[in-house]
Formats: sequence, structure tokens, C-alpha cells
Amino acid sequence: MINIQKGTKDMLPKDSYKWQRVREVVMELSRKYNLKEISTPVFESTELFVRSDGDSSDIVNKEMYTFTDKGNRSITLKPEGTAGVVRSFIENGLGNEILPVKLFYISPCYRYEKPQAGRLREHHQFGCEIFGANTLASDIETIMIAYDFYKAFGIEPTIHINFLGCDKCKNEYKETLRTFVEPHLPEMCEDCHKRYNVNPLRILDCKSPICKDIVKSAPKMNECLCDKCNTKFDDFKNMLTSMGIKWVHDTKLVRGLDYYTDLVFEFVDDDVTLGQNALGGGGRYDNLVESLGGKATPVIGFGIGIERILLYLENKGIEIPQKNTLDVYVASNTDNENYIIKFISSLRKKGFGVESNLMDRSLKSQFKYADKIGAKFVIAIGDDEINENKLTIKNMSTGEQIKIWSNDIEEYLEKNV
Ligand SMILES: [Zn+2]
Ligand SMILES: [Zn+2]
Repeated sequence: MINIQKGTKDMLPKDSYKWQRVREVVMELSRKYNLKEISTPVFESTELFVRSDGDSSDIVNKEMYTFTDKGNRSITLKPEGTAGVVRSFIENGLGNEILPVKLFYISPCYRYEKPQAGRLREHHQFGCEIFGANTLASDIETIMIAYDFYKAFGIEPTIHINFLGCDKCKNEYKETLRTFVEPHLPEMCEDCHKRYNVNPLRILDCKSPICKDIVKSAPKMNECLCDKCNTKFDDFKNMLTSMGIKWVHDTKLVRGLDYYTDLVFEFVDDDVTLGQNALGGGGRYDNLVESLGGKATPVIGFGIGIERILLYLENKGIEIPQKNTLDVYVASNTDNENYIIKFISSLRKKGFGVESNLMDRSLKSQFKYADKIGAKFVIAIGDDEINENKLTIKNMSTGEQIKIWSNDIEEYLEKNV
């Protein structure tokens, strides 16, 4: 027997209704917020993710699913959704159309890491990117799309926010942080030595207890913001409050990816019984389009891991309603297959969901089966019914059973299904 690859999961039929619900919610949001869908390939040139702008991140360093193909090209399975969308935005000149360009995707993502609970090598993300706008309204709208997604599943997360400032603030803060960290460097982990040179902000994010302890007393980013950035961040916080969204200013939030500027955010469940749960996040990356060779274009976006959300709902005991979609089971007790097949076909043409006797079961076991698969109605057809032109129809939830003219069946179903 051939087994599934480590860190991957089958989406089984018993769980498909959950995924269908996710897609349904996303489609509804795309309508309400006027988002257009984009889909980019699973694999891209490795250089799309390993950029030459001097930034580095753990995902890029350690976790990418990279291989050389038969044409000797370095290929990477996309570790996240944004870079591919930005590549496509530039390559297809989407920025030449009217701005903003508001996009969403549901995409598989790949990270080569040690599989552990909730950490998969292949997972799926619902993501959103808004190109061309850098306004309070576009910030809030992005947050609201994600927030409405959570709310559709009965989740009310707290949003953890931080403000990395404009390029000037960010660069000044990097220097402030370097100056602070330098005397402690000998005690710090190897990764932080690299970060010190390449992107000192990531030091704030280090998981090593020694580093964590050192940065506790580091100068805070928000203490180094310019007036313009300060006002922008205050307006954003006030707007969140007036929208009734719970927020926390988390001065250490920098996010795992390095292309963020300005605003970063994470959606978190603060329920201590479950441990802090990051349910998704994003931010602004106003330099990314330019750094990938496009015309300078501000972008804000987020990504939400779907498997993560489904696991979270399961742990919280929140159920996704399962819709009963089978309208009719046609139980047959006749050799006149021609009649049965045509009858079923006519019901489907009218839009009803129909199942029938594909397994040559007896009439009795057909009723049992119809009950098991949750059919709302069973229509029983034998030779007598065909000759009389009257069919027996049973409402499976009330048990009520009546005979009606076969010509009236569709009208009856339309009224009662
Ligand atoms: Zn600034
Ligand atoms: Zn460290």
C-alpha cells in the first residue's frame, strides 16, 4: 500500500461540508466587498521568494519546499500566497487598470518543516490583497473582510496590532535596536546574530528564552514614530474602537515575513484555556511591488490558514452546520428501468437533488438506505404506480405518506422540499 506523504492531509468526504462552507463564506465576502478572485501557480521561481533586497525570514531560510527540476531550474512550492499574487499583478499589468485592485484567493501553501500538531507541509490559505490604496478606509476595510470571515464561523477574535512606521521611522528604529542589542550580542542565539545584520526587527520575534529576556527592555517601536506615523496609528486605533473591534497594541508584533511596512496585525483568540491562538494575520507591504520590479504601489493584505481555523473550531466545540442537500430518493420496485431513469432525469432537470437505486437493493433496504443518507422525501415506484400514474411519496421527517398523480410530483416537491 502506498501511504500519504508526511505533513499532508486528505480532505475526506465526511469533512467536505466544512470546506464547502469556507468557500461559501469567502464567495459571499467577495460579493459584499467587491473582491475579484486570482489564482496563481503552485510553483514559482525560487528567486521570487528569496529576494535580493537584504531581507530574510525563517520561512525563506529554513522552511521552503525547494527543488531543482529536470531543466535545472530552482523551483519553490509557494510558502505563502502574497508573493505569487504580486508577481502576477506586475507581470499582467493589473496596476494599469483602475485602482484599487482588490483580490482574493484560496490557495495551497507549502512549508518543509517538521510535521507536528497543526503544522502541515501542505495547507490552504484564504488571502486578500488590496493594491493601490493607502488610506484609513482601506486599512479598516481589509480588517473587516477578515473579521467578517471569522464572525461567519462564530469566532470573535481580538486583533493584535503594531505599527512599523514609514521607511524613515523603520530605518531609524532598526539603528536604535542595533545600538541597544550590540552589547548583548555575545549571549544571543546564532539566528539573532544574522538578524542583527540583515533585519534586526526579527530579533524582537526570537523564540530563544535568553534573547526574549534581553529584548524585554529594548526601546519600543512606537516610541520612535514620526508625527505623521503617530497620527496615522492613532486614527486607526480609534476607528477600530468605534467599529466595536477588540484590539491590543502588541509592540513586539513584527510577523514572520519581512516585507511588512507600516501596519501589521494578527487575529488572536485570547482564551487562556486554549493557549494564545493566532488565527491569521497580515499587514501593509508598500515596498513589495517595487522590490519585485513593478511600479511603486501600496498593498495591504492578510492570510488565514483554513486547516488552522477548522482545527480551532473543533477544539472550541463550535460546529459548522451541515446542510441536508438530498431532496429525493427514488425507490424502485419494477423492471421498467426506462421509466425510472427518465423520471429521475426529469427531477434533476427541475433542479432537485436525487439519489436512486444504483445497487439493486430490495425495496425495504432502499427505504433504510434513503433514511441513512438523509433524503427528505422518498418516492416509491413499482409496476402498479406506473400503470395508475400515481406515485407514493413519503416525507422522511414526518413519516407522512401519500399517493399523488405523477404529473403533480414536481409541483408538490417545489412546495415541500
Ligand atoms: Zn514615520
Ligand atoms: Zn535569538
